[in-house]
Amino acid sequence: MILVREISKSFGPLKAVQNVSFELPAGQIAGLLGPNGAGKSTTIRMMTGFLTPDKGSISIVGHDIQHQAPQAKALIGYLPESAPIYPEMSVKGYLKHRAKLFCIPGREIGPAIDKAMGITRITEVAKRRVGHLSKGYRQRVGLAAALVHNPQVLILDEPTNGLDPTQIHETRSLIRELSEHRTTLVCSHILPEVERTCDRVIVMAGGQIRADGTPNELIDASTGAIRYIVEIRTNPTAGIEHALRILASIPGVAASKPAPNQPNDASSGWSTIEIESAPAEDDLREAIAACADDHGLFIRELHKLVPTLESLFIQLVDAPAPAQTPQISTQGGDA
Ligand code: ADP
Ligand code: MG
Repeated sequence: MILVREISKSFGPLKAVQNVSFELPAGQIAGLLGPNGAGKSTTIRMMTGFLTPDKGSISIVGHDIQHQAPQAKALIGYLPESAPIYPEMSVKGYLKHRAKLFCIPGREIGPAIDKAMGITRITEVAKRRVGHLSKGYRQRVGLAAALVHNPQVLILDEPTNGLDPTQIHETRSLIRELSEHRTTLVCSHILPEVERTCDRVIVMAGGQIRADGTPNELIDASTGAIRYIVEIRTNPTAGIEHALRILASIPGVAASKPAPNQPNDASSGWSTIEIESAPAEDDLREAIAACADDHGLFIRELHKLVPTLESLFIQLVDAPAPAQTPQISTQGGDA
């Protein structure tokens, strides 16, 4: 459906996007997630034909975005990061202007606008000036403008930026509705945005793809360190250091340290310790309990911190850039 093959883009010395490849099957709603400056908007602007890649190719439903630009662009509904809105125009006037840009025949313009306004629920503000609308309504006008030519593909750049919590909730439901019959790519730096709206997450950082899969696949495939929290009776003479040394000696443990945000003063009689496993280690809880027992340490709590998409995201974004291949990819090869 959409094929992005090894695209790169530099701005002077800055490599904004490097060798990015992915494919979106028809009907999928995918999220492009990454911190600010990751290269998401640059990727999307190449996909929508607003920027030319330095190398690589992009195909939109069989049309090359560079060599068959009019056909490819006609299939895409694009909501840019800051939608170009004309504040003096009425909502209807603006949508009419957009419909003409997409060469919709004259007699079809009225019904196309009415349909787009109905779907995005802005019919009641059709005659209002765009500049007088709230940010939430303006965003919906942007979505209506992206939909007016009934595209098969929707590409939305930070669609809930600057909205209040109620507007965010409404916009997310609207995106879900709109994506039901369309291939959709939602680009965001906000994890819950992508986690709640999308079936698949493509994590981008430093211009490269770092992971690609469903949230559960990414968590299952992550081979990063697993952390354990252990609460241990403090040895009154040796203190927490004694327990830290013993626990650090367990095979498979990479580090042990006082758990952050815990009082850990000897006076309470208890110490809370965070243990980090070496990457790809099996569950260490039994080894921790056995070692504590052997050394006369008394444990009153031991639990494994379950990795979340958030912890994985932070780990992926903080990690040094991979040489070539993404760190985690659960997607198949080329179609
Ligand atoms: P994101 O959308 O993930 O926040 P962008 O794709 O907007 O990231 O930007 C990626 C990097 O490219 C950033 O460092 C940004 O400053 C830079 N950049 C983006 N567009 C331009 C441009 N037109 N000229 C120069 N640098 C740019
Ligand atoms: Mg951006």
